[in-house]
Amino acid sequence: MNPDKTKIKTLTAEILAVGTEILLGDIVNTNAQFISQRLAEIGVNVYMHTAVGDNPRRLFDAYAQAFCRADLVIATGGLGPTDDDITKEVAAEYFGLPLELHEPSWEAIKNIFSNNAFVMTSNNKKQAMLPAGCRVFPNGNGTAPGVCVERGGKTLIMLPGPPNELEPMFVGQVVPLLREKTSAVFVSRTLKVCGVGESRAAAILKDVLDAQTNPTVAPYAKTNEAWLRITASAADETEARGLIEPVAQIIYGRLGDNIYGEDADSLESVVIKMLACRGLTVACAESCTGGLLASRLVDCPGASAVFTEGVVTYSNESKIKRLGVSQKTIENFGAVSGETAAEMAEGIARSSGADVGISVTGVAGPSGGTDQKPVGLVYIGLFILNKGVQIKESRFGGTRSKIRERSVSVALDMLRRELM
Ligand code: ATP
Repeated sequence: MNPDKTKIKTLTAEILAVGTEILLGDIVNTNAQFISQRLAEIGVNVYMHTAVGDNPRRLFDAYAQAFCRADLVIATGGLGPTDDDITKEVAAEYFGLPLELHEPSWEAIKNIFSNNAFVMTSNNKKQAMLPAGCRVFPNGNGTAPGVCVERGGKTLIMLPGPPNELEPMFVGQVVPLLREKTSAVFVSRTLKVCGVGESRAAAILKDVLDAQTNPTVAPYAKTNEAWLRITASAADETEARGLIEPVAQIIYGRLGDNIYGEDADSLESVVIKMLACRGLTVACAESCTGGLLASRLVDCPGASAVFTEGVVTYSNESKIKRLGVSQKTIENFGAVSGETAAEMAEGIARSSGADVGISVTGVAGPSGGTDQKPVGLVYIGLFILNKGVQIKESRFGGTRSKIRERSVSVALDMLRRELM
């Protein structure tokens, strides 16, 4: 065992949003998301998010409950000048501390009002009344200072609700303080899987998922993909990456080529890189996906080096005129058929001069399905110069938009596997 690991000091935290607006659904608690993300980066374990209205009794209870579970509670909102802003007042009562005028904060508030057209009311002095002995985070973007109270091994940090005030205060003043309190960092690495669903991936990795402690492995289902996030906590990033590596290797061993990339990779970015490495160009002809495939390719910086053209050939006439699909093929097999997909793929490659042609034709629904060709039946054609054409038949469930998104993912994955 690495002896350094015993030195890791981890903090457990809860985030408590104060404000009836949140409970009414008038605003979304984005502050909790922001704070959680920043805390994960510095190795603070967040165990709970809660929200409570502007009610002194319930807020008092919320503090009491949160401190039963956590060393650190970060409360957001309710630091304003009005009577329903009670976060500090209830905290002072909870810790048994008097509220005292904090002169530097009062000066800062008076300066803000003297520099703009707003009239200061007596209420504003309330924002400078802070629990005795607290640490103060000056607010560069508003009147309410942030506050940190530390008593008996427990820390309460209170931050203003508006994100444009909270975020810079958190990054510039709270994170440095918390870094002093914890020496652990969390590092995550996400392996991205296509061709194996989340539940099958979880079954293949059951023993790995069951045994996880540090690092942890969390599967996430995405449209036609599964992501596996491996997260380690350690004294520093190098050590965390060292803990992640053997687990990543086990997962690569089990899922092999189904893992298309990691972290910021997307299927399309990987495909574009592979085409560029091989000096190949691609064009696509789409029917039911209506340009979605071209759009995903073009979303990637660098697409212009490999992507020549995308056409939406929705009608039979367009498939015949633009791509040279034979009328007989459509009459004999239908527009949604492997035969048509094959001719579309070859047609777009030849007419655009690309090395690779991909086509998609299918029944996206919700109407238009038959017993032979139900909604969700999709054919993808892949033509590669000097290699010929291959087709893939898929049957997708879900809404029209899901069927279209899945078709594009399968088309990209088919090309990726062919280029490997
Ligand atoms: P002020 O000093 O402006 O009165 P405050 O600290 O009292 O701020 P609140 O009055 O609770 O904060 O909220 C002010 C505004 O901040 C809300 O109307 C909302 O726009 C935003 N806000 C508050 N809490 C959150 C939250 N948890 N997530 C995102 N935005 C929030």
